[in-house]
Amino acid sequence: MLKVDLLSLTKEELIKFMEDLGEKKFRAIQIFQWLHKGINSFDEMTNLSKNLRQKLEEMAYISQVRIENKLVSKLDGTTKYLFLLEDGHIIEGVVMSYKHGNTACISSQVGCAMGCSFCASTIKGLERNLKAGELIAQILMMEKDFGARISNIVLMGSGEPLHNYKEVTNFLRIVNDEDGLNIGNRHITLSTCGLVPEIKDLADLRIPINLAISLHAPNDEIRKRLMPIAKRYTIDELIESCHYYLQKNNRRITFEYALIRGVNDGEEEAYQLSKLLKGLLCHVNLIPVNPVDEREYRKSQQHQVKIFESVLKKYGIEVTVRREMGADINAACGQLRNKHLESRK
Ligand code: SAH
Repeated sequence: MLKVDLLSLTKEELIKFMEDLGEKKFRAIQIFQWLHKGINSFDEMTNLSKNLRQKLEEMAYISQVRIENKLVSKLDGTTKYLFLLEDGHIIEGVVMSYKHGNTACISSQVGCAMGCSFCASTIKGLERNLKAGELIAQILMMEKDFGARISNIVLMGSGEPLHNYKEVTNFLRIVNDEDGLNIGNRHITLSTCGLVPEIKDLADLRIPINLAISLHAPNDEIRKRLMPIAKRYTIDELIESCHYYLQKNNRRITFEYALIRGVNDGEEEAYQLSKLLKGLLCHVNLIPVNPVDEREYRKSQQHQVKIFESVLKKYGIEVTVRREMGADINAACGQLRNKHLESRK
């Protein structure tokens, strides 16, 4: 019999699971609370009978991640984790401390299938989807290791969250539960390379999280060179899905734009971007691209970043240049994992 991962269940699903075992609803809620306190053995659930704990042991298990390695920035305390999954796969996660709380950046897949040409997470392709419980387990492990509450989540680790739609949307429901981690939707950001149908499906769920779109180009021509997904959906279709998201959720959308020297950082591109985003409730996050060993891209020069920013401002587009965190442990998305996999060989 295949064991059920209890950490991957929403509270409603756990209630159903327990009712099928002939147990009352309040028992399910007790278990849900234990799970999301980071308890990962049934024996520690001391308000359950020994009999029930035994039964759970036979039928169920609790997803876990272990810390394989961690790097702490001496500059700002940013902590990068390499987590080991039960089947031996490795994923990355990061905790950043701000005045307003701790933000966890977590992974949604092992590797990634999207193939963006500047991103290290996708170099070895997609290994597998993570389960909702493995997303929760990353946060629980960070809280335990960091000794502090995580107040914000960004789905910006490895993987394309909307390519793992079912588990990721379940995760959103679980992490928001008041008997669980109780992290508000407004404190959660999902970043996507732009899977148009899934953006619309997500909009229809009306879970008012923040949506971030990895745009990285103002037109189809440049975008197709950087991101294979642009061959499937045009920028116009993508922007239209953002309008749809806004209609349903009325949450300002973030556009991420990695500035790559001589590729997408010209003044002309800034004008095109301003035109594209006009009239959309949004905010642009400019990120000087993180050079990746396996790729030849370079960061835009400082003055080019300034010009790009000022054009957007001139057209009334809200824009910020992303502050670099943990510069001394800087390994662009996925690089830490790739290096680790190399050294393991
Ligand atoms: N798959 C999702 C989320 C993961 S990546 C997405 O595409 O949005 C999180 C962000 O980091 C994305 O905006 C991604 O485009 C960006 N990114 C990836 N590699 C980068 C690099 N080398 N430099 C700067 N940003 C990068």
